[in-house]
Amino acid sequence: MSTVDAMGSPAAEGGSGQPTVIDAHVHAFPDEIIAMRGDLVGRDHWFGHLYGNPAARLTNAVDLLASMEAAGVDHSVMCGFPWSDPGLCRANNDWMASVSATSGGRLSWLGIVVPRHPGAAAEAERCFGLGASGIGELNADGQGFDLTDPSSLVSLVTTCVAAERPILLHATEPVGRAYPGKGTATPDRLLRFLAAFPDLDVVLAHWGGGLPFYELMPEVAVLCRRVRYDMAASPYLYRHDILSAAATLVGPHRILWGSDFPVLSQGRFLRRTLETAMDPVALAAIVGGSALATYRIPPPGPLSGGQVR
Ligand SMILES: [Zn+2]
Repeated sequence: MSTVDAMGSPAAEGGSGQPTVIDAHVHAFPDEIIAMRGDLVGRDHWFGHLYGNPAARLTNAVDLLASMEAAGVDHSVMCGFPWSDPGLCRANNDWMASVSATSGGRLSWLGIVVPRHPGAAAEAERCFGLGASGIGELNADGQGFDLTDPSSLVSLVTTCVAAERPILLHATEPVGRAYPGKGTATPDRLLRFLAAFPDLDVVLAHWGGGLPFYELMPEVAVLCRRVRYDMAASPYLYRHDILSAAATLVGPHRILWGSDFPVLSQGRFLRRTLETAMDPVALAAIVGGSALATYRIPPPGPLSGGQVR
């Protein structure tokens, strides 16, 4: 049964009969970065890993807002790219802050820092001052930090805990096929990080590499009590049944709908998600309510179109 017609939940409704939709995981770049693609492929190893293939798409904020408009996405959370150069992180943060400020309330952002760099905590603090909703998407493989030895991350984490802002971590599966960007941030390593920082709110991208299943183990569930999961790139990795299965395992309020745009088309993935045979209240939490709470995003108003250039 399609639940699209049953979306009458007054708790989170965007006005069109559809619940408020927040895409909690998108990527966009300034035009200057897109123009420098060839140079950056050689300069930043993770950027080169992902975008050395000319077929891998890079999108700007105009592309993102057009996609949201066409798809019926009310609001998106832009994730910083995991640069290994603090200067590129800072420039990326300045750009996301300005794009968000001129988006008519349609875009939030997560600040990006090089976690092991001595200036990481100060840059995170600066991001929060500029309006960042959290920090991420940090990437252990891309940025050269060790999830199993997180001592160098203490000051960054302390800053996020004090600001009551989450960190989004790239996560990946210990099994399955290899693909560009997969990396090694698997559940066993992620649990070491979570054990070191029990007061930190954490969002694990890409279903936490399968960690929801291990939450059936009580000692793992304890470590995951401040963890939420986003669905970024889900159809690329899993059968759609993972949504209902994960909602049973961890509850819908700990699941954030996210596309990983432009990896996935927002429209097609949203339609597929809204067609899931699931309690409409649970589905409304997954497609929007969970992200609003996790990133403390003000509920978006009617689509008004931003002035982003
Ligand atoms: Zn990721």
